[in-house]
Amino acid sequence: MTIPNITHEMSDKDHQLIHQSKIFRGVNIEDLAHLIADCELFSIDAGHTLIRANTHNKYFYVLLTGSLKVFLNAALAEQFIAILPGDCVGELSLFDGASTSAQVVAASNSRLLKINEETLWRLVRASHSFSRNLLFLLAKRLRHDNITIVDGLRHQQELENKANIDGLTGLFNRHWMNEFFKRQISRALNDNKPLILILADLDNFKKINDAHGHLVGDEVLSAVAVTLSKQIRPTDLLARFGGEEFAMILPDTSLDEANHIAERVRMAIASMQVKFDGGVHREIHVTLSLGMTSLMLGDDITHLLARADQALYQAKENGRNRVEII
Ligand code: GH3
Ligand code: MG
Ligand code: MG
Repeated sequence: MTIPNITHEMSDKDHQLIHQSKIFRGVNIEDLAHLIADCELFSIDAGHTLIRANTHNKYFYVLLTGSLKVFLNAALAEQFIAILPGDCVGELSLFDGASTSAQVVAASNSRLLKINEETLWRLVRASHSFSRNLLFLLAKRLRHDNITIVDGLRHQQELENKANIDGLTGLFNRHWMNEFFKRQISRALNDNKPLILILADLDNFKKINDAHGHLVGDEVLSAVAVTLSKQIRPTDLLARFGGEEFAMILPDTSLDEANHIAERVRMAIASMQVKFDGGVHREIHVTLSLGMTSLMLGDDITHLLARADQALYQAKENGRNRVEII
């Protein structure tokens, strides 16, 4: 059975309700207007099912008006969690890619913002506040699941292991990148499209920690993440690969274009000033070394990472604050 729904144009009132929802709390909505425009607004009547248990859910929903019931156990119809305006549903199954564990039904006529997976990740990438709200929401859900789902503990551990976001920078983490990257590689090879991987590592970062302390080091890492996010294009992917190392995937990009982007990134980081202690005179400057490689026939993720890493090593050897290509 298909879900009966009516799509709508977004009104000022809808924008206001979106702004008031928990997931968009503290988020600068204007900055994200282009992404919110990609979301769908729709209505569902009381009694209809929004998410079926044991299916693959592809959407994250924000409830704007009305109410929903989440049934965690189909056999216990009287046990449900009420979802009220401003709350969200759908995130757990979207994150772990596993079948839905709960059935979500409209308790009254409801209006929802429907966000697809790609847009959700773009929102995460574009806004630290959104990422923080999402992590908070997930943490709350995991606690609840632990009580209600029979083998909740195992479930929680699985989800934690699969968490995709780096807590410090709000960027995707290495786990996410490895998974996503495999798909990107097979897609590029199938479509016969170029693909570039860049590994970037901050230069002499240990000295910054040693001189100013780990917390200031953390601030620098966050600032670097923001600058990197601004330099890449919407189709490019950025992840924190580890400590002070970042990975960028540039789909459908020639080596020439990628070189241009890598140089732009390098210069943006080199001209960045991180102020700390509120003092105008206390500024930190950092530089970045970048290793770049392009996808070749027969490559898998291991080959590509090894070449990018080798290029990065060369960039360090050749004096740092530079881009090398292998
Ligand atoms: P190189 O130019 O050769 O890369 O020198 P480096 O000092 O950057 O490299 P090294 O691998 O010797 O040191 C990396 C430093 O990055 C040491 C580690 O403490 C720091 N680091 C890694 N992760 C974090 C983090 O999350 N926060 C902070 N503040 N520092 C971190
Ligand atoms: Mg380093
Ligand atoms: Mg390093």
